[in-house]
Amino acid sequence: MTNSIYICGEWRPAADGSTREIRSPADGTLVAVVSDSRVEDALAAISAARVAFDSGIFSSWSWSERSALLSKVADFLERDMEIVAALESGDTGKRIIEAKYDVADVAATFRHFAKLGLEQGDRTVDSGLPHVSSRITQEGIGVCSLIGPWNYPLLQIAWKVAPALAAGCSFVLKPSELTPSTAIHLMKLLEEAGVPAGVANLVTGAGSIIGDTLTSDPRVDLVSFTGGLPTGKRIMIKAAETVKRVALELGGKNPNIIFADADLDAAIDFAVTAAFLHSGQVCSAGTRLILERPIHDRVVKEIVRRAKLIRIGAPADLTAETGPLISAGHLKKVEEYLAKGVAEGATLLVGGARCAAPELANGWFFPPTVLDNCDTTMYCVQEESFGPILTVEVFDSEEEAIKIGNDTIYGLSGAVWSSDIARTERVSKALRHGTIWINDYGPYKPAAEWGGFKASGNGRELGHHGLQEYLEIKHIWTNNSPSKSEWFADGN
Ligand code: NAD
Repeated sequence: MTNSIYICGEWRPAADGSTREIRSPADGTLVAVVSDSRVEDALAAISAARVAFDSGIFSSWSWSERSALLSKVADFLERDMEIVAALESGDTGKRIIEAKYDVADVAATFRHFAKLGLEQGDRTVDSGLPHVSSRITQEGIGVCSLIGPWNYPLLQIAWKVAPALAAGCSFVLKPSELTPSTAIHLMKLLEEAGVPAGVANLVTGAGSIIGDTLTSDPRVDLVSFTGGLPTGKRIMIKAAETVKRVALELGGKNPNIIFADADLDAAIDFAVTAAFLHSGQVCSAGTRLILERPIHDRVVKEIVRRAKLIRIGAPADLTAETGPLISAGHLKKVEEYLAKGVAEGATLLVGGARCAAPELANGWFFPPTVLDNCDTTMYCVQEESFGPILTVEVFDSEEEAIKIGNDTIYGLSGAVWSSDIARTERVSKALRHGTIWINDYGPYKPAAEWGGFKASGNGRELGHHGLQEYLEIKHIWTNNSPSKSEWFADGN
């Protein structure tokens, strides 16, 4: 779709006609050709969003009207499940079934914010004066730049679009340049649901070209970003000039801590899923396995056995359990990361080289890989590979497990496995990560906040706070019986 830029209710090409090919990571076939936005396009989209917001065309809708709109979008997503899942699978190479789970989660996100919107209202505070009413209202923050990653393309932007609309904001959406197809479809659904022209705008294209415009333009009030740490830091700097609100969902280097008294069958099974689901391209992937020393050999042996069994393939392969990495560039990054780990002294137990099977030769496939004998001084333990690489560390005491689990600049998520409930409570409290799973790994709920401590970001998505990000708070003081203050003498 070479007219994939959507501004003020109209589809258009890039200002200079630039286009970008989207190719399947599974076999390199052409999936789509989309507009490659220029700075002029980003500026036009920001203008449209600003005019729409300031006109009150949508921001003046009541909470219940906007909630009804979000519910409609959820209905349309469920109606278009097959279409949207196929688009997501085409761009990302993920299995259709996984893409369908994602679309169901996207619909649930819209329903969550529809419900939350209905719970909003003004709050009165005691003014202390009988003739004065004092109330706190919340209103949409204004124009939002919403920037998403490629791993869960539609889901990650839904976490931004749904609360932005619930709050009455206008926005410019920029999906990852690698995975724009579902964002394009979403705009069509928003239009069908009745979002007024100019409220929802889309620019497809590279952050390197339009990112700075979206994050520094004075007409933008909020930047909500999900992606890598270096981009997040740059966005904070750009946004600082006009003191925009910035919400960042960044990377993770997530500890999965298993004590010897855990249900090891379950813990091992979840450790495999935590590390290798979606070929490790998950911000909350359990990439750091931290084992109590006595169970190390047994757990590692079983994980290596299980890793070898994982079937890798393209979306069309119905027997496949996981798919490709997103791009040639990402594959190279994962290979370099692994080489660095081995050079630092980690022991490669399984995987470690690009998949050689002829049917995978045209895609970016990398197998589940396990690195043993790791410690927190290593690059592979500290830095995100965003690929299917699991590092293994050991500990001898609860204190050491906590220390290792917190020894990272990141703080997105983690897990603790033990049959000692008091211990799991102590450890979960001591871990400095935004989500902790006890005897489990991975589930999340739209009603529960998601986000990171430390360099994993700031702010929260989902839950109640996920709506607060998009709201400004205003105190309205009404004096129903004005009289002179008599603070200064009036000379009469
Ligand atoms: P990325 O930072 O390379 O790109 C993310 C988005 O930022 C893309 O849309 C890109 O075009 C845009 N961008 C690039 N330069 C920009 C600039 N200067 N200004 C504004 N935008 C710019 O990240 P990615 O490779 O797409 O995603 C992978 C990363 O995302 C990983 O680090 C992963 O952990 C993180 N992630 C985090 C969460 C979370 O919930 N915390 C969820 C998913 C992914």
